[in-house]
Amino acid sequence: MPRPNRRVITVSNRLPIVVTRDEEGNVHVEPGSGGLVTALAPVLRDRGGMWIGWPGITQDEQIPLDDLIGQAIRQSGYELKPVFLTAEEKRLYYQGFSNEIIWPLFHDLQSMCNFRPEYWEAYKRVNRKFAEAIAENVRRDDFIWIHDYHLMGVARELRDMGIQSKMAFFLHIPFPPLDIYLKLPWRFEVLRSLLEYDLVGFQTLRDRRNFVQCVRTLVKEADVYGKGQVVSVKLQNRTLRVGAFPISIDFNEFARLAESEEVAKGAWYIHEHLPERKIVLGVDRLDYTKGIPERLEAFRLVLQRHPELQEKIVLVQVVVPSRREIPQYAQLKEEIERFVGEINGQFTRSGWVPVHYIFRNLNRLELVAYYRTAEIALITPLKDGMNLVAKEYCASKVEEDGVVILSEFAGAAAQFQRGALLVNPHDVVGVAEAIYEAYTMPVSERRQRMRRLRHAIRRYNIFWWVDAFLQAAIARRLDTFPVLLDYIPTEG
Ligand code: UDP
Repeated sequence: MPRPNRRVITVSNRLPIVVTRDEEGNVHVEPGSGGLVTALAPVLRDRGGMWIGWPGITQDEQIPLDDLIGQAIRQSGYELKPVFLTAEEKRLYYQGFSNEIIWPLFHDLQSMCNFRPEYWEAYKRVNRKFAEAIAENVRRDDFIWIHDYHLMGVARELRDMGIQSKMAFFLHIPFPPLDIYLKLPWRFEVLRSLLEYDLVGFQTLRDRRNFVQCVRTLVKEADVYGKGQVVSVKLQNRTLRVGAFPISIDFNEFARLAESEEVAKGAWYIHEHLPERKIVLGVDRLDYTKGIPERLEAFRLVLQRHPELQEKIVLVQVVVPSRREIPQYAQLKEEIERFVGEINGQFTRSGWVPVHYIFRNLNRLELVAYYRTAEIALITPLKDGMNLVAKEYCASKVEEDGVVILSEFAGAAAQFQRGALLVNPHDVVGVAEAIYEAYTMPVSERRQRMRRLRHAIRRYNIFWWVDAFLQAAIARRLDTFPVLLDYIPTEG
């Protein structure tokens, strides 16, 4: 019989802690604060659970973490088990296999991949290391929940070690179509490992369909049946489930923060310095999947095609530093900065600078102040697993006004199709015209669209997501599911 109160062991590349060093060189550890941590923490606390992951510093840095992790455990209320990596492992498994092979390939950017065999060897070794850490701590009745593309091989390692516990996997990034997946030199090994889980979850129906097509084509004995959100894959001696579970945010936390006095003040301050101008906001990690140069081109085009918008709108583009040790990321930063300089050089007038460029991590208050005050969110990734910025923006629009322009290729597009202006990020003229449409949209339409978006995000929030996944994995119930549809563009 399934046991709904099994202990949950969560495993992800990074432990949910932040390790910092102060000016005197003292190391501090604090519990992390992302949406996933917020949603999983009560589950782990109530069930006596554990989180296993890399603390984010390498063994070579020789920082004694035991006491600090002990302190983080007391603050979090559940166990944290670090898996230590060497600098070499970080370079080959994390930067190499995860971020120079799987990340670009799964975002359909095969030409960016660096298929080096030593990356694969390191990936297997580190996945085994994670599996060993799990095996040391797992009890037979535990439920093991593994997250994301860094750890796809863990199930195979665990089964080889004879671990029989229930295991599930959630992929936070997209899963590519068959023709692209086939480029992976280790395509059979990765697929076989994923099939060792009891449940494999994806962000969207499209990702789930892509995966099922790869399984049907590459695994001869697999029989796929069922329809809807979750389907079953029957192999020779076992059956697993494969489903779509769109991840979300802690809606109420963003809404509460947006209503706070500090945010209201911050939002007022931002607009006070940009009087009578509409703010178009872009917020992205520095990443070539986010379509930032294409977006800048669209912004330049809207200023050319609709000159009446000059001096009336500004683009605030926040870029959060990320993965800068990988050369393509460093090049992208230069490309963005050159482009921002060009646009500002071309259009700036006394008292109006069209693009405000911020290259740093904003704290939560600053970020929500920008969300609350920006009239238009311009979110145009070339491909994105979900895109939480889109959901955070809507949650923060407590006045129920504001327009979202969203890429069709963000996982969020399926849920946003009735409220956002959906665009093809490669179609820069189309994006430029969407900016114009958003700028001129009547307030009644803006409100109607934003209400729809907020309603859906409030309901299908991160707590719903954790619950739906655990229900499907442990209790095997599927009745909490909305009907999800892919976004399909229509002509005209
Ligand atoms: N974010 C942040 N500081 C910033 C800008 C963004 O912490 O200055 C956060 C934002 O709140 C969001 C996350 O970064 O939760 C970005 O998530 P998303 O799914 O949009 O993209 P990812 O970076 O995971 O590809």
